[in-house]
Amino acid sequence: MRVLVAGGGIGGLTAALSLHDAGVEAVVFESAPALRELGVGINLLPHAVRALSELDLQPALAATAIETGALAYYTRYGKPIWREPRGLGAGYRWPQYSIHRGRLLTILADAVRARLGESSIRTGHRLVRFEQDEGGVRAHFADPASGRPLAGERGDALIGADGIHSTLRGLLYPDEGPPRFSGITMWRGIAERDPFLDGRTMAIAGNWHIRVVVYPIAREAAARGRSLVNWVAEIRDEGRTDWRWEEWDRRGEKADFVPAFADWRFDWLDVPRLFGESEAVFEFPMADRDPVGRWSFGRVTLLGDAAHPMYPSGSNGAAQAILDARALTRALAVGSGVEEALRAYEAERLAATSAIVLSNREFAAERVLRLVDERCPPGCESIFDYVARDEMEALSRRYQRIAGFDREAVNERPS
Ligand SMILES: Cc1cc2nc3c(=O)[nH]c(=O)nc-3n(C[C@H](O)[C@H](O)[C@H](O)COP(=O)(O)OP(=O)(O)OC[C@H]3O[C@@H](n4cnc5c(N)ncnc54)[C@H](O)[C@@H]3O)c2cc1C
Repeated sequence: MRVLVAGGGIGGLTAALSLHDAGVEAVVFESAPALRELGVGINLLPHAVRALSELDLQPALAATAIETGALAYYTRYGKPIWREPRGLGAGYRWPQYSIHRGRLLTILADAVRARLGESSIRTGHRLVRFEQDEGGVRAHFADPASGRPLAGERGDALIGADGIHSTLRGLLYPDEGPPRFSGITMWRGIAERDPFLDGRTMAIAGNWHIRVVVYPIAREAAARGRSLVNWVAEIRDEGRTDWRWEEWDRRGEKADFVPAFADWRFDWLDVPRLFGESEAVFEFPMADRDPVGRWSFGRVTLLGDAAHPMYPSGSNGAAQAILDARALTRALAVGSGVEEALRAYEAERLAATSAIVLSNREFAAERVLRLVDERCPPGCESIFDYVARDEMEALSRRYQRIAGFDREAVNERPS
């Protein structure tokens, strides 16, 4: 069996590795001219780390990532709200990793090239259309720089792992239109600095309107007593409608967001100083799409952000792409025919990921921030007089179940 994968991001590369591991030939077609170390930091939750360790990638992850020790929420004044252990410290059999997204991509791409061969990743190939018949599917590509058509490829299945602006999804749902903007603009950057807290914590401070997310992502910096800190500043402005989607990841201006955080000088982190320590700032809209009722159409299906783009609340998008890749592989490995396998993959993953998309719209993972904001009067000293610990704990467990990373499910699920 030969599977064509459109998109060489985290989802597409993991799918190629996973399929190869199951004895299925996979070729990745990526529209960018080269795979580059783009992006800032992401957290890999234990269910994703488990999936990647099944593909023998854990040593490479451990060599570069920070093992996330805790997730901690703070008010916009830096006052602690909730802290929970994460990864091994929370009893998972696999760690949670905070990692540079570009490093993760390189680990995946190196493994694909080493295991599947150099020609298994074809860069400069933008999927433009496909046609299928009873015996297979033919994908057509163009050179994104010139628009010139490239040789088509035939396979048994075509997987659209081509991200939130997916061409394949656009072909399957031509009337869908652009992604749905949340009203929240994000600015992202990285700075090397002295560690904050214990040097292994992912911290989120703020409320419904304004927030900062910070965590260290590099083992190499930690070994020198420093932290390479990934940060995301988020400001909600529901009146903003001026996004041009074709420029969705662009250089940002500090003047557009740093003043809103001017007095966020906590005893554990000086937020404006952190922003000041970063050279490059990227700006882009928090966006998703409405869940669709179907991903699989004959020999063609969607995976990762192409299938279920979601707000990056709860550290889940890449993790879900990785889980998709494993579920798709399991379904194809059964050997009951491509079309049935793609339907089985969809049945396993579509409802589960749709629930996460909708839950992330409510910021369910960060619900405690909103509760504290709603219930605690300004300057309140004792947060627990207004929001009980049990309630916070229940909210955290609920999101873990929705996103499929509650400890029992991760530790006990058969491979
Ligand atoms: C600020 C922020 C923080 C995040 N934090 C986390 C986190 O902590 N944890 C987590 O799990 N997730 C996180 N995510 C989400 C995560 O980054 C995405 O869900 C994930 O990268 C999706 O992977 P993908 O492979 O599906 O898509 P992408 O990474 O978008 O890859 C798609 C690839 O397809 C290529 N492509 C596009 N069109 C075509 C075409 N027509 N033909 C061929 N190739 C094409 C693109 O060039 C790209 O390489 C975060 C996202 C953001 C924005």
